[in-house]
Amino acid sequence: MEQDKIFERLMQLVIRYSHDQGQGKFVDYLDPKTLGQRLGLEDERGRGDWDALFTWVEHYLAHAVKTSHPAYFNRMWAGANLPSVVGEVITAITNTSACTFETAPVSTLMEKYLLRTMLDLVGFKGGSGQMTTGSSNANMLAMMAARNGLAPEVKQRGLFGGQELFALVNADAHYSMDRAANILGLGADHLLKIPVDDHGRMHIPALEKRLAETVAAGGRPFFLVATAGTTVRGSYDPLEPLLALRERYHFWLHVDGAWGGAVLFSDRLRHQFLPRLAQADSFTLDFHKMLGTALMCNVLLFNRAPSFLREVCSAGDESYIFRQGEDGEIRDLGTLSLQCGRRVDSLKWFLDWKFYGQAGLAERVEHYLALCQYAEDQVRRRPELEMVVPRESFNICFRFRTPESIPAEPFNKALRDRMHHAGRALVGTGYVSGQLALRLLITNINVGEPELDRFFQSVIETGRELLAERSDQP
Ligand SMILES: *Cc1c(COP(=O)(O)O)cnc(C)c1O
Repeated sequence: MEQDKIFERLMQLVIRYSHDQGQGKFVDYLDPKTLGQRLGLEDERGRGDWDALFTWVEHYLAHAVKTSHPAYFNRMWAGANLPSVVGEVITAITNTSACTFETAPVSTLMEKYLLRTMLDLVGFKGGSGQMTTGSSNANMLAMMAARNGLAPEVKQRGLFGGQELFALVNADAHYSMDRAANILGLGADHLLKIPVDDHGRMHIPALEKRLAETVAAGGRPFFLVATAGTTVRGSYDPLEPLLALRERYHFWLHVDGAWGGAVLFSDRLRHQFLPRLAQADSFTLDFHKMLGTALMCNVLLFNRAPSFLREVCSAGDESYIFRQGEDGEIRDLGTLSLQCGRRVDSLKWFLDWKFYGQAGLAERVEHYLALCQYAEDQVRRRPELEMVVPRESFNICFRFRTPESIPAEPFNKALRDRMHHAGRALVGTGYVSGQLALRLLITNINVGEPELDRFFQSVIETGRELLAERSDQP
């Protein structure tokens, strides 16, 4: 049968690719124009022709970024756990939508089981949850829930003519907050960015002042986000004072733990970074970041009953698709979601959860934190490198130290690009207090101390190369 042969051929490619993933360069870099020419996207080849089709696949793989490679430090995710990859393959061949029990019976029960497990772990008693497409959308859904919860009339009447609503976030909060303010009709002026203290956390006196001013001017602060691990610096907003302020202002307290929420699994780290999380109103965590589940895998939890989430999300006539379970129980997860079709993200997560367990994930996160400590020590020990700011948690913001006559920012950008294009390593960048930093993140199970040593060595060699080229110039 043709189909069997195709699967065999596919599996051979999969085995070869995954076998070579940690070898050679992490990418065979070509600039967009050259890559476009190499690919020949306009070619007609492939129509009804499996051989030709597989050459497209070969092209794809040849220029893919090997995200499991130990020189890949670029983003908050790297590679994917093998159990979750198994789940992804099964998800692809069974191709269904997770919105109803009818079309996705096992997925629905797995998702419910996982959400219950996570709600128990976080401590949201009688809570509800949803797997969304990622923390960007989870943040928006949380903001929407806060808006509809505190101003239920908005669902019907919209924001027109109502009291002005304000959301408050850490100035270093993720940009998805700005997008959510746009999509939900608040507008950027109603997203108040609170300046940070020396540790990159919301400055509490500044926050208090802003809250008081907002209320005095007739506004309603309805939504406050504590970021648990800011994107560039890795700072955790302190929950204790925010909970105290909630007593006074009655806003919704959302915790954006997309990145740093992974500390949840380790009792020790949870106590250190996220005490009192159980009192928050909602919490998002990306399983596809530090925990290594295949992209995308998010969980958004509410400290509210499922009926609340249903009231927030449901609108229009859904009767053609959703069926009520017995005793009014929510049977179809689509009723709690903003999507109609929903990708099955539960199977990969379930397999990871069963394979590693909470203890395995806790160990992983603790190990990453120890490696971050090691990386920071290495930066401090090497005269060519410097920390841009001290490390708060999992993010290492550093740079190559340039002589006084050479501005640090363009130099470090050039250094980073040189490393990327030569296939040496890929590291992210970001601004901290207006200064460009190389942002090193360790979220790859193939990275240990030797790989970090090699990485720093490569940064230093590339920096020296660039300095030498400059002094060659007349
Ligand atoms: C990554 C990140 C997001 C966005 O998450 P996606 O799943 O990529 O949409 C939001 N907030 C923080 C703090 C993040 O680190």
